[in-house]
Order: sequence, then C-alpha cells, then structure tokens
Amino acid sequence: MKIALCIKQVPDTTDIRWTENNTIQREGVESVINPYDVYALEFALKLKSLVKSTTITVFTMGPAQAEGMLRRCLALGCDNVVLISDRKFAGADTYATGLTIANAIRAELPDFDMVVCGQFAVDGDTAQTGPNIANFLEIPQVTFVKDFVEFSNDKLFVTREMEDGIETVSVKGAALVCVLKQDFEPQRPKINGIINATKKQIKILTMEDINLTPEKVGLKGSPTMVSKAFRNVSSHKAEKFNLNVDESVDLIENKLKSLEVL
Ligand code: FAD
Repeated sequence: MKIALCIKQVPDTTDIRWTENNTIQREGVESVINPYDVYALEFALKLKSLVKSTTITVFTMGPAQAEGMLRRCLALGCDNVVLISDRKFAGADTYATGLTIANAIRAELPDFDMVVCGQFAVDGDTAQTGPNIANFLEIPQVTFVKDFVEFSNDKLFVTREMEDGIETVSVKGAALVCVLKQDFEPQRPKINGIINATKKQIKILTMEDINLTPEKVGLKGSPTMVSKAFRNVSSHKAEKFNLNVDESVDLIENKLKSLEVL
C-alpha cells in the first residue's frame, strides 16, 4: 500500500506575527509538526506495521525550515519526504493549498492508495485542507477517523468517532482519511531511526514540478483572503470572591437573577 501523508509545519511559538497581507509570518520562525498531524503519522505507521509492503511518503507545503520536521518523520519510520516549496505559493488560502498538495501527490506518487491528513492545523484551524485535497484528487474522503480496522480486497475499513457513538465505514479504492487526535502518547524516534534519517534525501517540488501556473497558486490562486487580523482583547472584567460553598451558591443565584436567567 502506498500512503501519502500530509503533515503541516506550524510555527514553534505562541508569539504569532503577521505579514503586511494579514497572513501568518512563517519565514525565519522555527517549525514543528502540527500536534494533530502527529496522530496522522501514528495512523500511517500503524498501517505500515499491519499491511505488508506499505510505504509512507510525507508531503508538506511550506518554507524551507521544514527540514528538521521532515527528518523526524523519517526517523519515526516514514520512507520518503517531499517538501512542496516555492515563493509563489506564499499567501495560499485553503483552496490553493489543497490544489497545490493534490498536484504534488499526483506528480510524485500517482499510484497512491491512500492520503492521510490530520484533524486540523493549530494555526489556520479550518479543517478544510484535507477535504480540498480529496476534491482535487477526485477521491472519496472519510473524516473524524479514530482507528484503522483492516485493509482487504482493495477495501479500507476504519472507525469514525461521532457525537453519538462510533461507526465503522468501508471505502473502496484510493481514499483520503482525516485522523482525529488519539488517546495515547505518540512514539519518539529511536537512535537508529535518527541516524538513518540523516542519510535520506528531501525531495523539493516547485510550482513547475507540479504542473501549476502562477495564477493557480499562492495569493493569486486564492479566492478568499484575510481582510483583517487582530488579537481579541476581552472587554469583560473578572471579579474575585473569597466565599464558602453556600455563599458562592447565593452569589451565583443572585447574579443569574439579575441577568434574568433565573
Ligand atoms: P487545516 O485545513 O486545519 O489542516 C488539516 C490537515 O491538512 C492538516 O492536519 C494536515 O494534515 C493537512 N495540511 C494543511 N496544511 C498543510 C500543508 N501546508 N502541508 C501539508 N499538509 C497540510 N495563510 C497564509 O500564510 N497566507 C494567506 O494569505 C492566507 N490566507 C488565508 C485565507 C483564508 C480565508 C484562510 C481560511 C486561510 C488563509 N491562510 C493563509 C492560511 C492557509 O490557508 C492555511 O495555512 C492552509 O491553507 C492550511 O489550512 P489550515 O491551517 O486551516 O489547515
């Protein structure tokens, strides 16, 4: 089975800076794996351990400082890594990002069996990229995936975690799955993995390599744009009370009555 694993690099900082186009400043900021994509990686590694001759090719779109993150993926057991990087991709919204990643998968791994994405990215937080990639690749998608069940007769069986329970779904042929955060601690790379990872090459794909043109990528290829970005300053003031349980209950009751909730 050939898996295309989509991993996003996110800035390793809580001090988010903005560019003049109201986009997130990514260049010059250390990157880490999007925390939710660590579970997409675990999902792919589980498949690799259960389904014979599975290979995992990691795709990430973003600036060059992704190298450390990609080497970590190799150290954990991924087979190939692809950095989709070109200044022309800057400013892409989720539509242009989906198109760019889909074209990169087509160019580098045309005979893929599955595309694995995370739940969402902690910086952009839209959860639109996975479904967009599936749309551009014209393949079915399964979202909210909790676990892998089996892969047999060209059919993938996975569980989905829904608000009212767990369902098992099957999908035939190549498909995209968006994997939820899991309940276990993700694994750390072993020393042999880290050594082997340093020997592997990182493939870089530019706009020309993936058969796209300037008007289809980056800001130009993005039908949406951020018109304003700002930090929300709360206008609510907090009050602190030192009360026992009964006094607290009275206080809450009176407050709710004054707000006409009770
Ligand atoms: P999500 O959709 O939440 O990510 C879901 C999953 O998709 C991830 O877990 C991962 O598996 C995969 N994935 C997402 N991004 C990547 C990636 N880059 N490589 C590999 N896999 C990935 N950003 C800018 O820098 N400049 C802009 O001008 C800009 N404009 C935007 C305008 C709008 C309206 C919106 C909604 C976003 C904009 N962004 C912009 C943010 C940019 O679109 C996102 O960073 C990017 O498209 C991914 O979306 P997301 O962060 O919401 O990821």
